[in-house]
Amino acid sequence: MLDFYSIESLLTPEQRAIRDAVREFVDGEILPNVRGWWDRHEFPAAIKDQFGAIGLFGPTLPQEYGCAGIDNIAYGLINYELERGDSGLRSFASVQGALVMYPFFAYGSEDQRRKYLPDLAAGRLIGCFGLTESDGGSDPGAMRTRARRDGDGWILSGSKTWITNSPIADIAIVWAKDDEGVVRGFIVPTDATGYSAPTIESKMSLRASSTGEIVLQDCRVGHEALLPDSGGLRSPLGCLTQARYGISWGALGALEAVYTCARDYAATRTTFGKPIAGRQLVQDKLVRMLTDHTLGLLMSYQLGRLKDENKMTFAQVSMAKRNNVRVALNGARLAREILGGNGITTEYPVIRHLLNLETVDTYEGTHDIQTLIIGREITGLGALE
Ligand SMILES: Cc1cc2nc3c(=O)[nH]c(=O)nc-3n(C[C@H](O)[C@H](O)[C@H](O)COP(=O)(O)OP(=O)(O)OC[C@H]3O[C@@H](n4cnc5c(N)ncnc54)[C@H](O)[C@@H]3O)c2cc1C
Repeated sequence: MLDFYSIESLLTPEQRAIRDAVREFVDGEILPNVRGWWDRHEFPAAIKDQFGAIGLFGPTLPQEYGCAGIDNIAYGLINYELERGDSGLRSFASVQGALVMYPFFAYGSEDQRRKYLPDLAAGRLIGCFGLTESDGGSDPGAMRTRARRDGDGWILSGSKTWITNSPIADIAIVWAKDDEGVVRGFIVPTDATGYSAPTIESKMSLRASSTGEIVLQDCRVGHEALLPDSGGLRSPLGCLTQARYGISWGALGALEAVYTCARDYAATRTTFGKPIAGRQLVQDKLVRMLTDHTLGLLMSYQLGRLKDENKMTFAQVSMAKRNNVRVALNGARLAREILGGNGITTEYPVIRHLLNLETVDTYEGTHDIQTLIIGREITGLGALE
């Protein structure tokens, strides 16, 4: 792991062992193949079994539900290593863990947890999280999807867009307003009548991840579909806080990948009789990338400690997501410059990470939305609504 400040020395033996195992998996199974998956816009379906087998889905949730019960720094390191491979594959695991398994854990009944969590943890079931609608993802309170009471069940109607995993999912967590206008979460089997999930094609980002819509045409689900403890926008936003935490670590993995590539390239690329690594302007770019990586890692490490102590606030998470993703994106642009023309081909990982990070900077709350969340926290004045 890129580690200029010896953060390694702060890790427990268990955290190191988990990090090393995932790093080895990424080196052996993802890095040799990811360029082909990305170029072909192909989600590697077999990876769900591998992720399940090594415990990458919802690993902080308790062991009694088939999960690993690890701490949040170990979880952050998993995200870091996965995204060093590819942001799309980290997104696949993040959605499953933070946006599908977490709402079962936080808002589901005990029956729902026991029924679904072990299969989700093992990768036997894949889920997606449907919050965003086409009218504006930044304003989920304006959602139009409705859940109407129908006898002892519900009828869902509406549509969602930009949903990671929706074309490949077995179940969807769909957020809809009930008859009283309260946002509730529903577990929707993707083979339910009236449910479809068309793929979004021609994506130039997260191309190793599957993204689609969710279309609900009078889709009937039973009473047991409701997550009973969900209620209000704070329920889906609570899931986003979990996901943003993992993203803050993941983006630094992508930054390691582009920094390392640019540093190694600069060491061997010679112009005017000298390696470009010996040029001040190139060194400035490398130093900026490494400094940003170091600061981001310290931030996420401390955030993980706060999360383990149940002291992490959503504004702290917003700050880490906002900062770490943007510095990774800026770093990927600098790395692309260092690679010159070679920086635009997928023969090198840089352009793939750069384009992936455009999504990571946007989803789970855009950079500017995170700014407004933090701004409201420090001034007490809301500039978002
Ligand atoms: C590949 C991909 C995967 C995704 N996966 C999922 C998923 O699994 N589930 C899910 O529910 N969603 C998912 N999303 C959706 C994502 O969360 C939204 O794209 C994101 O929240 C932004 O919403 P939007 O695209 O509608 O942009 P908009 O909300 O229309 O925003 C457009 C611009 O306006 C700015 N803006 C908006 N409101 C304000 C304001 N009040 N003040 C200042 N500026 C503002 C934004 O910052 C942004 O720059 C995914 C998106 C992508 C691209």
